[in-house]
Amino acid sequence: MPTLVYSINNEKNPKTVYINLTNACSNACVFCLREQKDDVCGANMWHDENYTLEDIIEQFKNYNPTPQNVVFCGYGEPFLKKDMMKAFAEYLRKNYPEIKIRVNTNGHANAIYKTNVAEEFKNLLDEVSVSLNSDNAEQYNEICQPKIENAYEAVKDFLKSCKQAGIKTYASIVTGFDEREINVENCEKIANELGAEFRNREFISNGY
Ligand code: SF4
Repeated sequence: MPTLVYSINNEKNPKTVYINLTNACSNACVFCLREQKDDVCGANMWHDENYTLEDIIEQFKNYNPTPQNVVFCGYGEPFLKKDMMKAFAEYLRKNYPEIKIRVNTNGHANAIYKTNVAEEFKNLLDEVSVSLNSDNAEQYNEICQPKIENAYEAVKDFLKSCKQAGIKTYASIVTGFDEREINVENCEKIANELGAEFRNREFISNGY
């Protein structure tokens, strides 16, 4: 069975657990951890997506006491498994209403599904962190190597949709990966104009 639920440092009683739904992604970012290692804290992150909702629930229940936060994250883009993500988030809302649910996403969901996915998840997500990664489309394409058209615009639209849906919204960038210059100030300005808060994450080689 693949690693569907994991914790940083393999903690047995973590406050936060992470959900690894897929290895697929509509980006191929230059700093993606998937290009560098197979595991997070010893948990192998590769899988063939051969699992059910019950498998996620079973792995989740191995964490006792119940974690305070659940983050859809992992080695791929969580929204590419939108139905599974929704099913598990609904399960959490019903059975553990006190748990805060977050997602780390590349922000392509609305463009891929051609619908307002943020609105669909408005009652299922407390927080969304969207990878903005640059203040311009040209550099975004160079860093993220997106497989969809007009990806940078799609990311900005998604940030706006999340905010409008009433989800706490962050736009993030990664600095310190290589010599690349990222205009942090402009990125923050764009994030704020879209109604999002801003996070600058220093690149960490092992990812945590
Ligand atoms: S969006 Fe995330 S999972 Fe996808 S390639 Fe970039 S860093 Fe990797």
